[in-house]
Amino acid sequence: MNVWIKRLALILLAVILAGAAICTYIMYSAKNAVPVLNYHQINDRDENALTVHTDQFEAQMKYLADNDYHTITPEDMVDAWENGKELPDKPVIITFDDGYADNYRNAYPILKKYNLQGTIFLISDYVGTYPNYLTWTQAEEMQESGLINFESHTLSHEQLDSTSPEETWNQVDGSKKALEWRLRKEINFLAYPCAPTMKNCSAWSKRPVTKAHLP
Ligand SMILES: [Zn+2]
Repeated sequence: MNVWIKRLALILLAVILAGAAICTYIMYSAKNAVPVLNYHQINDRDENALTVHTDQFEAQMKYLADNDYHTITPEDMVDAWENGKELPDKPVIITFDDGYADNYRNAYPILKKYNLQGTIFLISDYVGTYPNYLTWTQAEEMQESGLINFESHTLSHEQLDSTSPEETWNQVDGSKKALEWRLRKEINFLAYPCAPTMKNCSAWSKRPVTKAHLP
């Protein structure tokens, strides 16, 4: 066979194999994609971008329950991706950032009503410190219910793209240690405050604190 025909055949084969690999990857990614809902405050008082009214939140949770969605935790998601753990049909992760007191007053009773799990990302220095935020007693009660899982949203919500590498590490590791001490569980997930660009992340991102970074 002419050498150019052989080369052309090899190139075509490479293109076909690459195409098959890309298609497989896209199909695998779509199959394993898990939607993540992110909330902050749930109340009828604060009219701001972080607030969802209680009746709207209830309607959204009812929709999930009525349409056979199954709530999972970030840990379940990573277990599925890394270890092949089977996920339920229509998995969804419900998250709350900051740890507001209304998550206990308003969201938690609704999650209980529909038997839905949620994950609250706590600013560990704010817990039990400011009246608008959860107390440790409330956090413990919710954790003991088995419906609410806690993870980290740093020590004090510093914008991590403007802190020094040392302070960035302190925000991440200090929060992890404080939450693990208070809640007696492993903290493996971090929600970045204010969606920073993370230009400093190379200083600490290789350290084994986080299995996944949620937006
Ligand atoms: Zn936040």
